[in-house]
Amino acid sequence: KKILICAGTGCLASESEKLLEILNHVIKARKCGDKVKVVKTGCFGFCEQGPILKIEPDDVFYVRVVPKDARTIIDDHIIQGKIVERLLYEEPTSNKRIEKQEDMPFYKKQMRLAIRNCGLINPEDVYEYIEHEGYSALGKVLTEMTQYSVIDEIKKSGLRGRGGGGFPTGLKWEITKNQHGNTKFIICNADEGDPGAFMDRSILEGDPHGVIEAMAIGGYAIGAHKGIVYIRAEYPMAISRLNSAIIQARDLGLLGENILGTDFNFDIEFKLGAGAFVCGEETALINSCEGKRGEPNYKPPYPAEEGYWGYPTCVNNVETFANIPPIILQGSTWFSSIGTEKSRGTKVFALAGKINNVGLVEVPMGTTLREIIYDIGGGIQEGHQFKAVQTGGPSGGVITEKDLDTPIDYDNLLGIGSMMGSGGMIVLDDRDSMVNMAKFYLQFTMDESCGRCTPCRIGTKRMYELLVKISNGEGTMADIDALKQLSYMVKNSSLCGLGQTAPNPVISTMKYFWDEYMELIKDVD
Ligand code: SF4
Repeated sequence: KKILICAGTGCLASESEKLLEILNHVIKARKCGDKVKVVKTGCFGFCEQGPILKIEPDDVFYVRVVPKDARTIIDDHIIQGKIVERLLYEEPTSNKRIEKQEDMPFYKKQMRLAIRNCGLINPEDVYEYIEHEGYSALGKVLTEMTQYSVIDEIKKSGLRGRGGGGFPTGLKWEITKNQHGNTKFIICNADEGDPGAFMDRSILEGDPHGVIEAMAIGGYAIGAHKGIVYIRAEYPMAISRLNSAIIQARDLGLLGENILGTDFNFDIEFKLGAGAFVCGEETALINSCEGKRGEPNYKPPYPAEEGYWGYPTCVNNVETFANIPPIILQGSTWFSSIGTEKSRGTKVFALAGKINNVGLVEVPMGTTLREIIYDIGGGIQEGHQFKAVQTGGPSGGVITEKDLDTPIDYDNLLGIGSMMGSGGMIVLDDRDSMVNMAKFYLQFTMDESCGRCTPCRIGTKRMYELLVKISNGEGTMADIDALKQLSYMVKNSSLCGLGQTAPNPVISTMKYFWDEYMELIKDVD
């Protein structure tokens, strides 16, 4: 048997490492090492119920397992074959215990594609990745496909950038490929900075080889021989797992010179970001990679034309890369059959806030917010009323009850005044003040403004001051008017996406929760 134990950041914080040590200790003491092997995996997603432990091939899923449960699991389940009922997930409405992962409401509507290997393999063991079709897509690309046929396949799949912008990935690859010159770069943007978002972190912690393989495929397609992963220094575990994955891949000839015996050379290095939110913007990211101040540039030229050290550079986000190997192996027709007409495939969301099932979820595009919040997320904590959900982090907007049945895709979210962003989803309930929520996000963007352009540098500060005054009950209607005016000025005249979207939480809370602003205004009767 195999005991899969979650070693994602969430479960590690709840002592899963200690649980793993004790399990190994008990296995040794019981001399049953020939019957069972303990494997640490990436995040299962159901962080609310961690630490999580799954036993294969029995397909039994245990939740909230603490180190002192280790002995019972080995003695009862592994040695005697008896399921430990009290460690099974208990369905809150029926009090029914559920044994299998696929029967749990949290997983039923999910489709794990980008996070397919998280919770399945040991991210530190390349052979486990290979056992699960790992590096087969790279092999196929290098032996059976031309650069153009790879690009064509990605274009036909309809994959769009998962970092927030939603730009078609295949087209980005094609533009970079078509630039003159032999020196090109491919960069993985792992500078995940939205409050509450941990999708990219979990992918890198749980399946680093998936990203490495995809970068090599992208490198081959656009004609790059060097890849860079730009990752936040605050993600030490993702960095360490990525580092060991790169070393393992080099040792097996999957990175470096003459990959898999072909004449394709490709290697990856990583650069650590210092945690500036603006460095998620691709030109700021490239400046930071070059050792310069992390500030955005005017576009054009776009990085695909003139990027890292002036060479054509393709920047894709972690989740975008994570989708590449399955598309190559299963084909663009299969991928494009998932999702909506303009947004194909799935999307990973980090569900957080006042929701029962906090965690990481992956659903087909077109799933409604109601399904995510109620069917998967288990509804609102402690029986409170849903008030709104903020998608897209500090750049997004709030979505209220009336739009909960909107099928999620890039365009629909924009249509209802929010955005996909990278996938942060924060649920708010009747105890939350929407003015305070807008103030929180504005403080974040004000602090993170790089200061390069005046509308964002000064405008967000003035907006924040007005919000503080209003939330303290000292604001007037003139302040509300000034706040509105400033919001549109900052939105329309800032240089990069950070400033252009910073006012969104204010604009959308004013639109949907005007009453809450008015209740705080002192010259309104
Ligand atoms: Fe910097 Fe803000 Fe201007 Fe972007 S909008 S360049 S973050 S000051």
